[in-house]
Amino acid sequence: MKVEKYRVPSKGKISLKDFDPNETALFDGSKKDGVEALVEINADIEKLQEQLYAEGKHKLLVVLQATDTGGKDGTIRAVFEHVNPQGVKVASFKVPSSVELAHDYLWRIHQQVPAKGEIVIFNRSHYEDVLAVRVHGLAPEKVWSKRYEHIKDFERMLTDEGTTILKFFLHIDENEQAERLLARVEDRTKQWKFSPGDLEERKLWKEYQAAFEDMVNKTSMDWAPWYVVPSNKKWYRNLVIAQIVRDTLKGFEMTYPTPVENLEQYRTLLKGMIASE
Ligand code: AMP
Ligand code: MG
Repeated sequence: MKVEKYRVPSKGKISLKDFDPNETALFDGSKKDGVEALVEINADIEKLQEQLYAEGKHKLLVVLQATDTGGKDGTIRAVFEHVNPQGVKVASFKVPSSVELAHDYLWRIHQQVPAKGEIVIFNRSHYEDVLAVRVHGLAPEKVWSKRYEHIKDFERMLTDEGTTILKFFLHIDENEQAERLLARVEDRTKQWKFSPGDLEERKLWKEYQAAFEDMVNKTSMDWAPWYVVPSNKKWYRNLVIAQIVRDTLKGFEMTYPTPVENLEQYRTLLKGMIASE
């Protein structure tokens, strides 16, 4: 799959209208084939994450942003299904607490970034401070408009210090959102996710799309790229993201750490400790 197609270039501007949320163009096969392909990619991710943890050298930060029902939770479940919870964390950013609001907006974010050997997935992120904050006017424009530059500098610092950053905007359309909200109302196992507030947010669809478009255009950098992932079809969304995560981990060219010297000596020693029948 030529996933570069979905990568927002660091120079120039994209228009979200040119990205079809329904497309499955890079995968040549049915949904069933796609689900099977994901199983294989997930097996790779499982092995690579084990190595990442063992090697304790690289840090991977995966940022997920989307409208309500965009599929952030589902992506985390599907793409990171088999990883070892010891080395992987999910950080979800909700409406900031009073303590968080008393600090600068990156304060709560910085505390959650990955340490060596870790993968951290941001379910929402510092980008809410140029999304929800902008759309709801929670801060004046002269405040939020400066944040794109802060965020670029912050992410630059993280990458200079050894963090690899991947950012995914899960792109769905308004009709798909209505269907997913309806499913939340109708399905007993999804009702807990339904909030009437989501319908209020939906009224701001256009404002949010404009904010998403500015976000990806202003902050997609070579060192921390945004991908606009067609996400109406969940299986395709999972496949695209899993592939990018797998290829990124592969690119680390990891090895298991060098063992202690004279392993042979310990082998003999341990064999002698095992009772023979
Ligand atoms: P959910 O992810 O559905 O639990 O909702 C979390 C809510 O928190 C969303 O409505 C976000 O827009 C909101 N939120 C997250 N971060 C911020 C922020 N920095 N400022 C304002 N609202 C935020
Ligand atoms: Mg919600």
